[in-house]
Amino acid sequence: MRCPAKVNLYLRVVGRRPDGYHEVVTVMQPLALADVLTVTLGGEGISLTCDRPELPQGEENLVWRAARQFQEETGLKQGVRLSLAKQIPVAAGLGGGSSDAAGTLLALNDLAGKPLPQSRLHRLASLLGADVPFFLAREPAVGRGTGTQLSAVTLLPYWYLLVNPGVPLSTRWVYENLDLAGGPTLPASQAWDPEHPETWVGNDLGKVALKRFPELALLLAGLSEAGAWCQGISGSGPTLFGLFRTREAAHQAGLRLRRTFRGWLAVARGLTGPEPETTWEQYAWMI
Ligand code: ATP
Repeated sequence: MRCPAKVNLYLRVVGRRPDGYHEVVTVMQPLALADVLTVTLGGEGISLTCDRPELPQGEENLVWRAARQFQEETGLKQGVRLSLAKQIPVAAGLGGGSSDAAGTLLALNDLAGKPLPQSRLHRLASLLGADVPFFLAREPAVGRGTGTQLSAVTLLPYWYLLVNPGVPLSTRWVYENLDLAGGPTLPASQAWDPEHPETWVGNDLGKVALKRFPELALLLAGLSEAGAWCQGISGSGPTLFGLFRTREAAHQAGLRLRRTFRGWLAVARGLTGPEPETTWEQYAWMI
């Protein structure tokens, strides 16, 4: 099972709820860049192997928690074996952990003979995290509320140059440092014209990420100079993206940035709807 990354092309924080959660309006596109998760049934309990030693290997890992929730919800008696190969940078604003959790729910529901309808899968996913329901459908969507109220949106298969400077940024920290009273938010958009992303791409959380890592501003300028159609920060950062019309343009811009930039660079195509996972591999490269 491939677990795709996402970018937030638009993210506007519209308020803070009494329970501390933030209300957002966000436009998300899944990417062909993906973690690879193998799920099998058998044995007892839940076991996990993950190729990133810095990630929790037990109950703190989101895939482990997703498997436990699934067992509790369905009464599944069999054990679950999980193996996770990470491609998506961690704590990067690309939604890797959330996608892995959604992938676990989807895989287990398949293996167990589909005991959960979409509505119950969605509810379980929301309990695991605000971004998790989006990764059940893996198609472009506008998220409202905490991000879990989803409606499909049409986007083009933009090509993305992703730039990650290798400094993790916690989503919680970014929200804690967001000053809702202290400045203008993005214009409220309701029309996401797929032909003109340059008119609506933006992110309220970007300001916090830029304040924490001022060097991100130079990288954003670098993406623009390298020919990006438009550029921005994904989620709570620090991953930046440049939008390109073609793979070749994104790749050339990546090679240009590579002359001076030492961090993680990748080119990936945006997914526009359900499509076979086997094609994704052809649409994501590290530079
Ligand atoms: P988002 O874009 O949804 O805010 P993110 O991309 O910034 O998420 P993740 O990569 O999902 O962040 O990781 C956030 C935290 O979750 C990390 O600090 C990590 O320790 C923890 N975590 C638990 N399970 C996983 C997992 N399977 N993959 C990545 N991180 C995980």
